[in-house]
Amino acid sequence: MKETILELKNVHIHYPISIGTVRAVEDVSFSLYKGEALGLVGESGCGKSTLGLSFLKLIRPPGRVEKGEILYKGRDLLKMSEGEVRRLRGQDIAMVFQNPLTSLDPLFKIRDQFLETIKYHRGDIPRDEAIKMIEDILEKLGIERKRMNEYPHQLSGGMRQRIMIGLGLIMDPDILIADEPTTSLDVIVEAGFIDLLNRLRKKFNLTIVLITHNLGLVAEIADRVVVMYGGRVMEIASSEDIFGNPLHPYTKGLINCIPNIELEQEKLVTMPGNPPDLVNPPRGCRFEPRCPVAMEICREKTPDLIDYEGRKIACWLYRG
Ligand code: SF4
Repeated sequence: MKETILELKNVHIHYPISIGTVRAVEDVSFSLYKGEALGLVGESGCGKSTLGLSFLKLIRPPGRVEKGEILYKGRDLLKMSEGEVRRLRGQDIAMVFQNPLTSLDPLFKIRDQFLETIKYHRGDIPRDEAIKMIEDILEKLGIERKRMNEYPHQLSGGMRQRIMIGLGLIMDPDILIADEPTTSLDVIVEAGFIDLLNRLRKKFNLTIVLITHNLGLVAEIADRVVVMYGGRVMEIASSEDIFGNPLHPYTKGLINCIPNIELEQEKLVTMPGNPPDLVNPPRGCRFEPRCPVAMEICREKTPDLIDYEGRKIACWLYRG
């Protein structure tokens, strides 16, 4: 029996702007199970990063979670006080952001950035014990302990990324959210990162949410995939199903765009059209203007996310 650690129920996230309201996330529901790696994928602007921020109540005003519940171990994060959520961040749910060079403070040694994090969450831990914790985590990350005495600019991109993960893991959280964690890495370092994340996952029994447009990365790490488009969930299925037998026309489009080195492709395949305007989204299915198999009903009504052959899908093609 899978244990649900985080559950989203009908989450809507809106940003009021001068010309209307950006409906960045609309009616998103899914569960995250303990110990799994979940990929949250879609093109830029599909709402995946916004949704990830909401897991830690980090949506900046004027943006707000308009409706819905985000339940961490059964308690609604949105109803917790700022103090409670602050304690939760890093200690229970940690986030690794996109660019390690800008996320690490250039003025402080790596050791001090770790000490600051430990002190913030557990001021009662003596310094020598905290140093031991840092040494342990660096060892798990494959970084020599003496490197803790260096500044971020003295480390390579891959090492900085590992430090970011270490800062996320130092308090032994239940959930690690990684938002585009390999954007600034070259392919060799990215391969090392995938290996590291898979090893850490086993070692820490970690639950991972991987937010990315890099489907190759998702294929290597995720057990399940949530595909988002225009702020809505289009399909949720196992990695095997998403990559081996995608059903939703948008998922099929995304998979088609993955370059295949075994085929002699002269050009990269792209999906025609642009993501929808989220101030005035299409009335029916948000993918309808770009969908090659759209029907009349698709223009009129939004398909709900329904159970279909072991997966969840929001598409009129699968409504019998
Ligand atoms: Fe295409 Fe219609 Fe399915 Fe949307 S609901 S993906 S427009 S077939």
